[in-house]
Amino acid sequence: MKTLRLGLLLPLAAASVFLLTQCAGLGAFLVSENDEARLGAEFDRQLRTDPAAQKEYPVYVANTPERKAFQDYVVNLAQSTLAAVPAGQRPGYPFKFTLIDADVQNAFAVPGGYVYIYTGIIRTMRDESELAGVLGHEIAHVTRHHYREAMARNTGLAVLVDALDGNDQNKIRQLVVQNLGALASLRVSRENESDADKYGTRYLAATGRNPLGIAKYFGRMKGSGLEWLSTHPDPGNRVGEVQEQVRENSSFRALAADSAVTNYRSRFQQMTAVLR
Ligand SMILES: [Zn+2]
Repeated sequence: MKTLRLGLLLPLAAASVFLLTQCAGLGAFLVSENDEARLGAEFDRQLRTDPAAQKEYPVYVANTPERKAFQDYVVNLAQSTLAAVPAGQRPGYPFKFTLIDADVQNAFAVPGGYVYIYTGIIRTMRDESELAGVLGHEIAHVTRHHYREAMARNTGLAVLVDALDGNDQNKIRQLVVQNLGALASLRVSRENESDADKYGTRYLAATGRNPLGIAKYFGRMKGSGLEWLSTHPDPGNRVGEVQEQVRENSSFRALAADSAVTNYRSRFQQMTAVLR
């Protein structure tokens, strides 16, 4: 579920072509959890302080009690979805969830547990199971370490991984700035997307919410030009796969059958009213 931001990527692509043969695919195998955490922390720092990044990714400002309550609601929902991840599957680093205040229908995560969700995508949702489903999908990309492979395929990021390995903080900082757009739009494989749907759905069910959350959302947004889906082929298949996963598990089925409760619709409508 990533959107490519060409403005940030083009200069980098030109600059890094010559490094392609040397670095592609080499560094990413060396990405440890510690390196993921350092990379994510630097990305998050740049996103909040670099003026160009702030224009591209305006962090939500909770400057009224209503906005604060909304932000707390989303972050708490994300944390409770994360808490549903079995301990053995959780990385050693903590997660940080951030709202981006723009009318963009997208969410993304970067290595190291940094998850970002746009107010624009939340505005198109109908209930809490959909929001927790999308958050669970992003959390799963992190817990399943899908970005290691994605970084290996991106030559500019392979250079960054080498800098992490060399522990050169200035170089890391410089490369993160240059690669901000690439990091925010890491493209994972079709298989990884299905895997994130599957694990995200398990996490969602473990919170006691309707495990069809992401399938309901995808199904409704099909053909709507949703950025999330435009980079993800076959939304129909993905909806079908999640529906089958829920059908095959009796406790998931029970939660889905109880959707009048497990969607948590009225709470969601109330807590997100500030967006409308
Ligand atoms: Zn995804």
